Amino acid sequence: MAAHFTLLQGGTLLIHGGDNHVKAVKADLLIEGNIISKIEAKITPSANTQVIDCTDKIISPGFIDTHHHLWQTLLKGRHANETLIDYFPSGFFPSSLHSPADMFWGELGGCLECLDVGTTTVVDHANLNCSPEHNKAAIAATISSGIRSVFCYSVTPRVESWEPFQLNQDLLPPWVLGTLEELAAKTPIAGGRVQLGFGFDSTYLPKEMIVATFEKVKSLGIKLITTHYVGNGHFGGSPVELYHNYGLLDSSILFSHATGANANDAKLLLQTNSHVSTTPSTEMQMGHGQPVAFSSDLKIESHCGVGVDCHSNNSASIISELRLLLQSARSSHTQKFAEVGKTPKKVYKTVEEAFNLGTIGGARAINMEDKLGSLKVGKFADILVWDAMSSGMVCASQLDPVAAVVLHSSPADLEMVIVDGVVKKSEWMLKDVDLSVGREMWSGEEGVKSWRDMAKELVKRRTAMQEKVDKIDMEAAKKGVMKAFYIDESTIVDEI
Ligand SMILES: [Zn+2]
Repeated sequence: MAAHFTLLQGGTLLIHGGDNHVKAVKADLLIEGNIISKIEAKITPSANTQVIDCTDKIISPGFIDTHHHLWQTLLKGRHANETLIDYFPSGFFPSSLHSPADMFWGELGGCLECLDVGTTTVVDHANLNCSPEHNKAAIAATISSGIRSVFCYSVTPRVESWEPFQLNQDLLPPWVLGTLEELAAKTPIAGGRVQLGFGFDSTYLPKEMIVATFEKVKSLGIKLITTHYVGNGHFGGSPVELYHNYGLLDSSILFSHATGANANDAKLLLQTNSHVSTTPSTEMQMGHGQPVAFSSDLKIESHCGVGVDCHSNNSASIISELRLLLQSARSSHTQKFAEVGKTPKKVYKTVEEAFNLGTIGGARAINMEDKLGSLKVGKFADILVWDAMSSGMVCASQLDPVAAVVLHSSPADLEMVIVDGVVKKSEWMLKDVDLSVGREMWSGEEGVKSWRDMAKELVKRRTAMQEKVDKIDMEAAKKGVMKAFYIDESTIVDEI
């Protein structure tokens, strides 16, 4: 089949230079199939090219979300005033209350929210592993949605009983790695748009078991392994140090949060070219500690991306997270000066540095800088088209388009989203989704659905999920989780 040509004509392109400086350039951009094939001042379209007038539009690379649990849609709104310890029983373990069909819909809702707000690639820490079918349903939804994803198949603790709260003691029964093998045999998935990664948090297991698991995972061709690193003292020492001691720390490792990182961790991360995903909303709310991507002490910004973590807790917008990160880093910086009666001569960090964390930095964090993260000939056509004349962006767009995107935009200004050369949102609306597309992975759902139809299904399933959640004594489950995770209850206090 001949490649499809699309020409984005007359827009303002945000182009990364070699030094990561972002330049606003008026030019045309040609998409050939799923690749950016030409960027020139004027491109003459061939007869079979679809031309999209981008006058008064800003064109940026799609955002890369480096840490997200995409299945959690049916739990949205539940955690607004919760800490991490509250969230475990109310947000993490309810994967066990999901049927594979619930998982499909939860995952689909997460993927589509991401696309709607401009995320074109996501690292999905898929800690939903209640059964092989749960994974297959979630991958099918990811395929159908059209998003680019690294689906990090996870070793997940499974609930044996809610009352009393008990986990299944066999964390790694043969089917867990067996299913991963089965999935790896099906790669490339969706022509390579959905990659397999691995999610692993069981760092308390014996060294030999961890090393053997990582060896197995890598032998299946998996190139990205992601691990939570929450630095609030509840979960033992540094997994950065532990992986280093086990000879496992390399560029395939992506830590989420790393809020406990110290100077030694920072040194190891830089030395081994491993990476960190900062997720400002959940870290700041749930007690993980300060986001580290803009830390002036650690200086690991070149090895960081930004993620959303839980769209059950906060919006899936990477821009919202960048904004929160930038302004909170500025606030912490200024506070240090204020404490000694001074004020900084220049503002801490720029909108361009924030923009880069969400684009080229995210691509680097997942070792895909050669394919993603900037508008460049030869890279995948993962592209956003912004309305530079919207009430929020007008005037800012004409002066500083990067500032307009990072500080003045809202998802409502995002007119078009293209992933892998395919338009997923146009005229400010998500396109219909063909649920039959992922049937080779899981055959539960089919048919072409509009967003409204899918939203109605999500609401129906959310209501049923609430009935299940409401039957659970969350306080008792919380105590059970703390016991299972060996969390010292005396360290959780009202005041200090
Ligand atoms: Zn997480």
